[in-house]
Amino acid sequence: MFQTISEALEWASSQLAEISESAKLDAEVILLHVIHKQRSYLYTWPDDRLNGEQIDSFTQMVSRRALGTPIAHIVGEREFWSLPFMVNPSTLIPRPDTEILVETALNLPLAHSAKVLDLGTGTGAIALSLAYERKEWQITAVDKVIEAVALAKANRDHLQQPQVKIIQSDWFDAVDCYDFQLIVSNPPYIDAEDEHLNQGDVRFEPQSALTADEHGFADLYYIAAAAKDYLAPGGYLLLEHGFGQALQLRDKMIALGYESVATVRDFGSNDRCTLGRLPR
Ligand code: GLN
Repeated sequence: MFQTISEALEWASSQLAEISESAKLDAEVILLHVIHKQRSYLYTWPDDRLNGEQIDSFTQMVSRRALGTPIAHIVGEREFWSLPFMVNPSTLIPRPDTEILVETALNLPLAHSAKVLDLGTGTGAIALSLAYERKEWQITAVDKVIEAVALAKANRDHLQQPQVKIIQSDWFDAVDCYDFQLIVSNPPYIDAEDEHLNQGDVRFEPQSALTADEHGFADLYYIAAAAKDYLAPGGYLLLEHGFGQALQLRDKMIALGYESVATVRDFGSNDRCTLGRLPR
């Protein structure tokens, strides 16, 4: 079937052409995972032969990809904020869109050792990226799914951010601090009827991390209302949401009494996060 690097890539690209828009890249990422090399190796040594074990695992992984399994699940990892996060089917796969939430949080005028809460942390991508940039922040991250808590803790250990507190909690249920300066969340916000749930990687992600009632607004609204009891005066709430949800969420936050409510776009120019601040 194939023996060398270039033959393997050609074979895999053709296997994946139908299911993936990035067949060639997918093939490369899987092969690099199998041979434990940097990308340049593929083009420097295209005639290198793979050993039997490598051929077997490559073939197996490409077959999983051909059935739709996300690349991140196959290689067990996804980069976010230039940090490697371990990933598994218990959580959402970190998205580049969410980096704008991290960037927005980092730009807030917060105290040196601000108390920060991340709700529904999943892999821990948001909380651990913030911790990586702001060593003095006192960050708590929660998730209601016990497997997600375990994964976030594993990422915390791997990324060496022991100061981040990770606990199991259904939103605020197990949170006992009432003076956060910042609460962030990337909650589920997709309407369960949304047809894009039947395409691509989302089919392999937990529904609990993706969809919410009230056309995707239920958790956004719940968090916006409940957060008021957990924020210090002048504290910020920063929520990720769908590109069509900004206006309604801003109205809700204004009605709840948040001030300076504003939406930030992601790098694809879609409305992606909305920020508000409690009165002082
Ligand atoms: N942005 C993700 C998507 O569209 C959804 C993330 C979420 O629901 N929090 O697939």
